[in-house]
Amino acid sequence: MKRDIKAGSPRQSLLLTILFLILSCLLWGLLLGIIFKNPILSWAHQEIGQFSNQPTQTSVPLLTSTPTLSEFLTEATRVEITPTRALSAQETLDQIAADTIAYYAYELFYYPVSQDTRLPDTYPTDSAQLPLVRMGDVMVAEIIAQPLNDLMTDAKAAGFSPYLRSGFRSINDQYTAYSRYVTEAVALGMDLPNAQEHAREFSAVPGYSEHHLGLAVDLLDYFYVDWIVARNNYDKGLYQWLRQHAYEYGFVISYPPGENPQKAKAGSGYSISEPWHLRFVGYDLAEWLFNAGYIDPHSSVTVNGILENIYKTAPEQ
Ligand SMILES: [Zn+2]
Repeated sequence: MKRDIKAGSPRQSLLLTILFLILSCLLWGLLLGIIFKNPILSWAHQEIGQFSNQPTQTSVPLLTSTPTLSEFLTEATRVEITPTRALSAQETLDQIAADTIAYYAYELFYYPVSQDTRLPDTYPTDSAQLPLVRMGDVMVAEIIAQPLNDLMTDAKAAGFSPYLRSGFRSINDQYTAYSRYVTEAVALGMDLPNAQEHAREFSAVPGYSEHHLGLAVDLLDYFYVDWIVARNNYDKGLYQWLRQHAYEYGFVISYPPGENPQKAKAGSGYSISEPWHLRFVGYDLAEWLFNAGYIDPHSSVTVNGILENIYKTAPEQ
């Protein structure tokens, strides 16, 4: 059956009226929008403008560039670093000594062996306690090989000619050398006490030398290679360079000249100056000694004095 849509029915009129009203509203809205310069868009612009004009202190600050490292550090240290008491010189020295002895794991590392202080009776007479390695013609403690190589490399680069004359010497080796000096002096007519006194001018008594530890070397300048010439030229060539730079490699001159350049500084542990004799004491103590003026003939600081101080204050192991 076919249903005819009759024009003019009340239901159809209602739908047309609703459709007309909707279209009229849209038309008027469009018309008003044009007349009032599109108030909806104007409002949106205003809102965005108001947001961007918010006072910056109430919002998260935006990074305009990457902060510098110092800005980061300043921020970090403000939170993490708390004030601490400054260490005194003695506390600093004790700390360096304790740390270094522990680092090298050798309790005699700073042993103050000198003409007055013998190594412990238990020290071996034919070897060192530290492992040794060969450098040129001599043996040295393995732990000083790299620093010594660095020192010699830089000394050469600075225009000098370092010559490694001696390193480790056992107590037995020292006995042989010392005995020869005594025997020669006796042969020249000295009595034994005088001959021994004479020998000590040139040679340590067995058991009383830093060379036994493997931590000391005699580094000569090829241009001032004779002992006496070297002693008289302690402030020239390689010897002057060592005075200024040995500490940078962890070494110190154990017996630098005192006010009389022929003699070692008082308290050095040996009476005659030896501008070529270096002992490895580690980087921190070497720097400490340099800054304390151990080279200065007028200062009272000596390597031996500081080492004796360390062994008096070091805790019992
Ligand atoms: Zn020496």
